[in-house]
Amino acid sequence: MGISQNSWNQVTYGEKKVCRTMARDEDLGFRAAHWADLYSLLHGALPPGIILWGHQFLRSHNPEGVSFVRVQARVLSTSEVVEITGNLLVAADGCLSSVRRQFLPDFKLRYSGYSAWRGVLDFSGKENSEMITGLRRASGKENSEMITGLRRAYPELGNCLYFDLAHKTHCVLYELKNKRINWIWYINQPEPEIKGNSVTMKVSENMIKKMNEDAEGTWVSELARVIKETKEPFINVIYDSDPLPQLLWGNMVLVGDAAHPTSPHGLMSTNMSILDAGVLGCCLEKSRLENLASALEKFESIRLPVVSRQVLHSRHMGRVKQGLSLPGHRCFDPNDATQEDCTLLQQRNMPFFGYAPLLV
Ligand SMILES: Cc1cc2nc3c(=O)[nH]c(=O)nc-3n(C[C@H](O)[C@H](O)[C@H](O)COP(=O)(O)OP(=O)(O)OC[C@H]3O[C@@H](n4cnc5c(N)ncnc54)[C@H](O)[C@@H]3O)c2cc1C
Repeated sequence: MGISQNSWNQVTYGEKKVCRTMARDEDLGFRAAHWADLYSLLHGALPPGIILWGHQFLRSHNPEGVSFVRVQARVLSTSEVVEITGNLLVAADGCLSSVRRQFLPDFKLRYSGYSAWRGVLDFSGKENSEMITGLRRASGKENSEMITGLRRAYPELGNCLYFDLAHKTHCVLYELKNKRINWIWYINQPEPEIKGNSVTMKVSENMIKKMNEDAEGTWVSELARVIKETKEPFINVIYDSDPLPQLLWGNMVLVGDAAHPTSPHGLMSTNMSILDAGVLGCCLEKSRLENLASALEKFESIRLPVVSRQVLHSRHMGRVKQGLSLPGHRCFDPNDATQEDCTLLQQRNMPFFGYAPLLV
């Protein structure tokens, strides 16, 4: 499904926007996949009818000493509130988790100090079939000037994740299957006001225009052009949190971003979520329902130390790449980086990168 990729960190500097390599990860074996491809694969593997779409979790109740959990959910299409009873509640409701809020009402996410503009450029030619002054638009195709220029500037695109660093900012660029380019540009700024229960922000035409102007002033023209040609770019406000002290309360357990809101610099938060599910499944299979409490404790003891270190490492990577202050009041400057600094940029430094325990 994904393409196996290495990683390449480079600095863009000077008026001429010269690029210099800082660090590479060879044999990284990283697989990049568009989330829709991954989610449809996972969904397809489930028995039909197992998912109740359009049900919003409201609250749950798990009285002490009782072996069931009662959940109230709103059916979004009718606003009817229904009750569902089960043995276990696995909360996979993301970094703004409502389930977590029940147990940790004072919990607050930590704003990272930056937000990310992002988008996916489709150059399959399928999306750009509109007629412009009688000619088919050629910019979005493999042999277009834009894509050939991009491949010249980023010769290992398709086999490599590019991290372009400039003064107090960085941009990630890589190719996905089916002729798509994914880019994420991190920009230091005060915490934006976000509305509703989402870390994705709506953007106006003026914001897009300003972002494109800034891209031209910061990145090589080939990258700025990809950003400009991407339809409907959007902003993710980047949050994480200090590691939680626990992941379970009675018969309720947190997994995924609900359990470990993390910044995305390890490029593996989905991986962490999938491993949570895998380990939880193994623990439950081994202990069976009669030993639910010990299965959940085992899950927590395996995953909490792993994800806690990964969250903190990812936070550090983000602060390094965004030139934010580090312990000792030092800021990383890609123009002035030592060999040791550059080594730190490698993705494989993420704790448990190649191996995370499934069972102990
Ligand atoms: C800028 C950026 C870049 C990223 N890059 C990468 C990357 O390169 N690689 C990677 O692995 N990860 C990356 N991630 C992270 C990745 O998107 C998340 O880690 C992953 O989606 C977490 O999965 P999850 O299932 O725990 O939560 P989510 O994907 O957030 O899913 C939570 C689900 O719960 C539902 N939900 C929420 N509240 C309720 C409720 N009350 N009732 C019912 N349902 C509810 C939501 O609708 C959603 O479907 C990135 C994230 C960001 C912001």
